[in-house]
Amino acid sequence: MNPLELIAARDVPLGGPRSLTVRRTLPSRQRSLIGAWCFIDHFGPDRIREGMSFAPHPHTGLQTVSWLFSGEVQHRDSTGVEAVVRPGELNLMTAGRGVSHSEVSTPASDILHGVQLWVALPDDAREVAPGFDHHVPLPVTGAGWTVRVFLGSLVGDTSPVRTHTPLLGAEVLLAPHTTVRLDVDPHFEHGVLADAGSPIVEGTSVPNHHMAYLSPGRGAVTVAAGAHEARVLLLGGPPFGEAILMWWNFIGRSHEEIVQFRSEWHAQIVRDGSLVSHGQAINHGRFGVVAGEWRGPVPAPTLPNTRLVPRR
Ligand code: MN
Repeated sequence: MNPLELIAARDVPLGGPRSLTVRRTLPSRQRSLIGAWCFIDHFGPDRIREGMSFAPHPHTGLQTVSWLFSGEVQHRDSTGVEAVVRPGELNLMTAGRGVSHSEVSTPASDILHGVQLWVALPDDAREVAPGFDHHVPLPVTGAGWTVRVFLGSLVGDTSPVRTHTPLLGAEVLLAPHTTVRLDVDPHFEHGVLADAGSPIVEGTSVPNHHMAYLSPGRGAVTVAAGAHEARVLLLGGPPFGEAILMWWNFIGRSHEEIVQFRSEWHAQIVRDGSLVSHGQAINHGRFGVVAGEWRGPVPAPTLPNTRLVPRR
């Protein structure tokens, strides 16, 4: 069996000066994808004064998964969905051909702590209509462990939320000195993100905020806690197999496509610049307009002078 590959996080400040700094383990120098998972941002526990405040911005070709350990985030999108993201609840937004949304942490909690994950849509699904799914998994418990399965199947539980490629997403909580052996699909590759307790994954200690990568071919993943309670996220899927191009908030397949998404977003900002929608979301353009949002849309950064190149 191949040894574990450890991926260290890099700090990425998001948004303005008062906004959040996240720890990004995907994409990394070593890897672009784990299954269809293509983006792993881990944040907190931070005091709410350094919370999340993302004004309306667009997405294409992906799904976003917000999963919190603590805190609360208000989500609004251009399909008209308003949702409060709470700990232990899956909120999955499908961008498909295009969506725009805003996210802001609410004052209802002191500490913001969780992850935002992106799922790349395969070529045959990346033009689907935007949508939103919410699911509260029932915790599955055993001797010293608790598992919440938000996507896919694990420990006998299966999430009802549909994905366009096979995926696994689960939170695993371990009491001190507990070991759990989780049966997994051997066709999947996996990432184990260490949130707390410096867990031991397949016999290797994984420092907090690092991710262990496990290649396909394993029928089980063993996670253990040492002297402290440990928490990990287990993410997996079969190798994606398509080269994708991630730039800013867009996923496409070619440089030209990204240029097109960017120019459509900017055309929409100009057209909708004075639009303040107090009521229904306005479903026009590729990205729509976020309802009930007073903050202006975020312009895309300048494109680099070189051509953007897809990665796999
Ligand atoms: Mn977003």
